[in-house]
Amino acid sequence: MRIVVPAGGIGGARFLRGLKAALGTGADLTGDDPTITVIGNTGDDITLFGLRICPDLDTVMYTLGGGINESQGWGRAEESFAVKEELAAYGMQPTWFGLGDRDVATHIVRTQMMAAGYPLSAVTEALCDRWRPGVRLLPMTDDRVETHVVVADADGGRRAIHFQEWWIRHRAALPALEIVSVGAEDAAPAPGVVEAVEAADVVLLPPSNPVVSIGSILGVPGVRAALERATVVGVSPIIGGAPVRGMADACLTAIGVETSAAAVAAHFGPELLDGWLVDTADAGAAVEGVTVRARPLYMSDPDSTAAIARATLDLALELKGGRS
Ligand code: GDP
Ligand code: CA
Repeated sequence: MRIVVPAGGIGGARFLRGLKAALGTGADLTGDDPTITVIGNTGDDITLFGLRICPDLDTVMYTLGGGINESQGWGRAEESFAVKEELAAYGMQPTWFGLGDRDVATHIVRTQMMAAGYPLSAVTEALCDRWRPGVRLLPMTDDRVETHVVVADADGGRRAIHFQEWWIRHRAALPALEIVSVGAEDAAPAPGVVEAVEAADVVLLPPSNPVVSIGSILGVPGVRAALERATVVGVSPIIGGAPVRGMADACLTAIGVETSAAAVAAHFGPELLDGWLVDTADAGAAVEGVTVRARPLYMSDPDSTAAIARATLDLALELKGGRS
């Protein structure tokens, strides 16, 4: 079976770990015909101190490869921050980004390979040689696409800041007037992305940020159209009108979408979604043209997460059967 999962960071990575568990250790996840292909969001990517940083690709890679800081959900386990402290002592800006020492090595490898001319997809494959995430991890694009957030200036004007500055430094508390995927219109899907979707039995959307994670992936020309031809089932990242963790509601508000499980599904639309899992707290949710099922959606431990992934896959296979 071939499964494609477009994914952001923490929500995507945890769902993927559950999906791997649900499929069992016997599944061949890494061969020439991989069971799971992940299309990773690169809209959060940023260059700091000359280093190319891909937070969502790294979160997926570290989580599935056993190197993640579990309680935090991002960054390396057993991390230290000497480099960050030394940079701050030099007065280097910015100081708000959580750049860990172990993490820096990943960024150095990536930056060096990219400077030598390797595309991000090849770099990601090389990094995954070490981490063995058990999935094929593809960036959504090899082109530079960066999410920027337009905020109001103190003097009444508007300015765009990088998504990371808005999210981490301002904790998404500055009202966002607009969220822009800079470079998206000229980007092409990375090699293998469209092919993987076309070859997929099913596509599963994890509970990732619908705007800056899934939305960025859908914004790469050709990706949404390919996904619309596939059987797609998503997991709501919104439970009872709130993002479970993080500040995804601020992103939804910025694009004029209500923070509810039904509104997010309606925003993706019935052309994209065949099925949508909502939490039991949202059992009444209905979305025209989409099969909605309610079940517990808190990824609180490995077992509950695997059960969510299993339910997503089961609904997708059921709906695929009905389509063909
Ligand atoms: P990020 O890039 O690290 O922000 O991660 P993602 O984009 O993959 O996912 C973040 C989203 O996952 C958050 O906005 C939450 O809405 C959602 N989320 C996190 N934990 C859970 C959970 O346990 N259950 C569900 N249903 N959604 C979750
Ligand atoms: Ca992210």
